[in-house]
Amino acid sequence: MENKETSSNFIKNIISKDLSSGKHKEVVTRFPPEPNGYLHIGHAKSIALNFEIADDFKGKTNLRFDDTNPLKEDREYVESIKEDVKWLGFDWGELHFASNYFDEMYNRAIILINKGLAYVEDLSIDEIREYRGTLTEPGKESPSRSRSIEENLDLFQQMKAGNFANGEKVLRAKIDMSSPNLNMRDPVLYRISHTEHHNTGDEWCIYPMYAFAHPIEDAIEGVTHSICTTEFEEQRPLYNWVVENTEMEAQPQQIEFGRLNLTNTVMSKRKLKQLVDENFVDGWDDPRLPTISGLRRRGFTPEAIREFIRATGVSKGNGAVDVQMLEHFIREDLKMKAPRTMSVIRPLKVIITNYPEGESELLEADINPENPEMGKRQIPFSREIFIEQEDFMEDPPKKYHRLYPGNEVRLKHAYFIKCEDFVKDEEGNVVELHCTYDPETKSGTGFTGRKVKGTIHWVDASDSKPAEFRLYDSLILDEKENDGVEEVDKTFLDLVNPDSLEVLQGYVESNMDDAKVQDKFQFFRHGYFNVDPKHTIGEKLVFNRIVSLKSSFKLK
Ligand code: ATP
Ligand code: MG
Repeated sequence: MENKETSSNFIKNIISKDLSSGKHKEVVTRFPPEPNGYLHIGHAKSIALNFEIADDFKGKTNLRFDDTNPLKEDREYVESIKEDVKWLGFDWGELHFASNYFDEMYNRAIILINKGLAYVEDLSIDEIREYRGTLTEPGKESPSRSRSIEENLDLFQQMKAGNFANGEKVLRAKIDMSSPNLNMRDPVLYRISHTEHHNTGDEWCIYPMYAFAHPIEDAIEGVTHSICTTEFEEQRPLYNWVVENTEMEAQPQQIEFGRLNLTNTVMSKRKLKQLVDENFVDGWDDPRLPTISGLRRRGFTPEAIREFIRATGVSKGNGAVDVQMLEHFIREDLKMKAPRTMSVIRPLKVIITNYPEGESELLEADINPENPEMGKRQIPFSREIFIEQEDFMEDPPKKYHRLYPGNEVRLKHAYFIKCEDFVKDEEGNVVELHCTYDPETKSGTGFTGRKVKGTIHWVDASDSKPAEFRLYDSLILDEKENDGVEEVDKTFLDLVNPDSLEVLQGYVESNMDDAKVQDKFQFFRHGYFNVDPKHTIGEKLVFNRIVSLKSSFKLK
C-alpha cells in the first residue's frame, strides 16, 4: 500500500521510547479478531492502527484469530476476515490461530497449578459471581481454594479428559479475593465446553478464557505492543500477572486506545449478527451495515476508509464520530476518479414535439470535467427523453426554476426546452410532457441569446439503459428523533428505521454498457453510486447510492 507518514500519537511515543531505551529491537503488533462475525469499521481502526504503527517502525503485524470460544466461531468468519483485511490494503506477516497454541496454554496452566497459583473450582458460575463481592465489598474465598497441588493437577487432567460436564468445574487463578480490581479476584482461566471447534475439532473439551489466552498468545508470537481498546484497561494487571507467572519469555505490553463509534450506527458483532439473523438486513454485506463487506458493497473504497480512520486520530476517548465524516472522505476520494453520467431515477416521459421524428444525434461531454484526462463521452439525444418527475410542476411555488407550463430550462449537455403542454392519467398524475426545443441553444456552441434559470438532467428514451437504484437512509434512527418517549426496555431494534431502503426503477445513459460490478459513478445531482455485486445479474445494472452530493458537514 502507499507509504504515507502518519501523524504522531501517544502509542507511537511509547514505542519510540521502548526502541531508544533498548527494551525492544523490533516492533511486533497483531490484529486479533475473534472469528465470530464479520469485521466492521471499528475493526478497521484497530487494523489500521496496528499495521501502520508497525510499518512506521519497520516492524511487522500478525493476523491472529482469537478462536478460543468454539460456540460462536466459524470458518465462514475466518475467510471473510482475511478477505476484508486484504481489501483494506494490509499484508500480514504471519497468520496464526490461537487454537494452535492450546497445548502450550494447557502446559502454562499446569505451571500455575504447580506454583500453587491456580486451582480447580467446584462452585457454579453463579456462585463464583456471588463469592466475588463488589466494588465496595471484598470477595469471599471458595472452599476449593485450599485444594492441594496434587488434587488440582489430577482434577485439571480429568477436566481435559472429558470426565466432567459443562459447567461442573473451572480452573481459576489464585490471586487475591480482596483486590480492589475485581478482575484479580481469582479469575476463571479455563472452562469446560463439549463443543466441536472449527480448527481443533473434538480434540479439546476445555477452553481457555480470553484473559488467560490473550497474553500467552501475544508472548508466544513475540508481540511487543498489544494494542487493544479501553474496556480492557482494568484487565491489564491480570494480563501482566499471566505473562509473569506462566514464565513466558517475551514481555508484551498492553496499550489501550478509545474505540471508534459512529453516530446512528450499531457496531458490535453481537448486534450486527442479530440484525442479520432476524432479517432486518440482507446479510452481513448489506450496504446499510458498517461492516467492511457492507461498506464495500455500498461502494466505499479502502482509500476513503483509511483516510477517514487517520482523520479520527488516536486517543483514550470513546466519543462517537459523526457518520457524515466518513461520507466526506468517500466524496473526496471519488471526486476525481468517478466518471460522471446522468441517470433518471423517477422517470417522466418528455416529447420534444418539434424535434424531427426518427432522427437522433450524439452530444459530447466530459467524462469528468474536474479531471479532463478521463476523456469524453457521447450522449444520445432524440425526440423522446426522460426527466425526473420532480423537475416538473403544474403549479410551481415561487423560485421553482424547473419545468412548468410556459417555462424554459436547460437540458444538461443538450438544448433549452420549453414546456408547452402535459398529459395526465385517470388518477390525475402527470405522465407525459410536450415540450419544444430551440436548436440555436445547443450546449457548447456559445449561445448567449437568453438565459434560463434551471438546468435539469435527462436520458434519451429509446437509447438508454434500464437500471435499478437503491437509495439508503440510516439503518438506526436517532434516539431523540424516535418518538421522544423513553422506554426502559427499548432495545436498539426499536430504533431500526423501517424506511432505510428505497428501490427505484429508471434509466442511465446508454454509454454505460461496459459498467461492471463495483464500478463507481457520479450521477448528476443524485450523488455517487456503485454497481451492486449481489443484485446486478445479466444486462440490468443495479446501483447502490453510496452518498448524495451535498452535505452541510465541514471537516474540522
Ligand atoms: P465487537 O465488540 O464489535 O464484537 P470485539 O472487540 O468483540 O468487537 P474482536 O474480534 O475481539 O471484536 O476485536 C478484534 C480487535 O478489534 C480487538 O483488538 C478490538 O479491541 C478491536 N476493535 C473492536 N471494535 C473496535 C472499535 N469499535 N474501535 C476500535 N477497535 C475495535
Ligand atoms: Mg470480542
